[in-house]
Amino acid sequence: MEAKIAVIRGDGIGPEIVDAAIGCLDAVARRFGHTFHYSFPIMGGAAIDSTGVPLPQETIDECKRSDAVLLGAVGGPKWDNLAGHLRPEKGLLGLRSALGLYANVRPALLYEQLKGDSPLKPAIAKKGINLVVVRELTGGIYFGPRGFRSGKNGQEAFDTEVYTIPEIERIAKIAFDVAMGRRKKVTSVDKANVLETSRLWRATVTRVAESYPEVKLEHMLVDNCAMQLIKDPSQFDVLLCPNMFGDILSDEAAMLTGSIGLLPSSSLGAGKLGLYEPIHGSAPDIAGTDTANPIATILAAAMMLSSSLGLVTETAALEKAINTILSKGYRTPDICSMGTKKVSCSKMGELIALEVLNAK
Ligand code: NAD
Repeated sequence: MEAKIAVIRGDGIGPEIVDAAIGCLDAVARRFGHTFHYSFPIMGGAAIDSTGVPLPQETIDECKRSDAVLLGAVGGPKWDNLAGHLRPEKGLLGLRSALGLYANVRPALLYEQLKGDSPLKPAIAKKGINLVVVRELTGGIYFGPRGFRSGKNGQEAFDTEVYTIPEIERIAKIAFDVAMGRRKKVTSVDKANVLETSRLWRATVTRVAESYPEVKLEHMLVDNCAMQLIKDPSQFDVLLCPNMFGDILSDEAAMLTGSIGLLPSSSLGAGKLGLYEPIHGSAPDIAGTDTANPIATILAAAMMLSSSLGLVTETAALEKAINTILSKGYRTPDICSMGTKKVSCSKMGELIALEVLNAK
């Protein structure tokens, strides 16, 4: 097939990890006979430096013309003191909104080879972690009415959580669809003992579940869920979360797997176009040293192949290549331990790309 991929390299380690991922995509294209056309629109700090704004209109247009968007990461200390609307991260929020991406899908997988890196007790890690957080991305408290005002004790600030039934329905459907391709269990997370929005969330998710009789639905309060993730993460398959709870729990789930450099995420909307990126930031502390772990970005590219381009076998081939390279003992510094072979970011990308080409 031919596909058009918009690649936003971003800031900090962004260009290094994205280049490693492109090497792997090129290997997939060669092995399976596809042609990927890349364009390189800019966003974040790089865009601020050259255009004065974090998300130029041309970037939005280019992404809309593409089949998928692959992103490194944006931001860094150079742009930290700019006004809120000019910050690099504003570019990412703006792009998700311009592309109508309302669902964030974040798998958290503990690799067999890396069980020792998990902060969990070995007896718990031994049971494995293989879950997906499906987080609502464009509603809830991050987008409701907010502000400062003066009250009887001086200045006050407020943020408001708002959810509509259609917003809850569409994210719930994504969670149930994801579960249908996995172990068929959805845990819906809320705070229904306190929040009205959570009560609407729970009632709506329960109704959506009626269309998915094969999927087991359970509801869990967010505080309990935070505990259960530490106690026994193997119980979870798909975690369906409102925006803020998903933001927090997906980072918790990520850390249980050992390294932030291993986890991808996708942002999806109603159509095939999706935005694929690692869950981590631009890691300015190691930028330019060729030591970043590119695996999260390569896994994001793997998600892109199946979710936006329909290339399921190719996704499996890329994921298998990563597994094989980890099994051969190759590690970037963030996951390196005694008895393993330390390699750079670019070398890790080359090894995985070669494995894609050489694997039968
Ligand atoms: P970060 O994720 O960039 O880094 C946190 C720590 O993890 C650092 O020690 C870093 O070296 C390490 N790390 C991150 N990715 C790694 C990788 N692939 N390999 C090895 N180590 C890795 O978070 P931060 O330091 O809080 O943020 C840095 C910048 O990134 C900020 O400007 C922040 O706003 C931005 N950010 C961007 C995104 C995004 O683009 N989606 C997400 C989060 C943070």
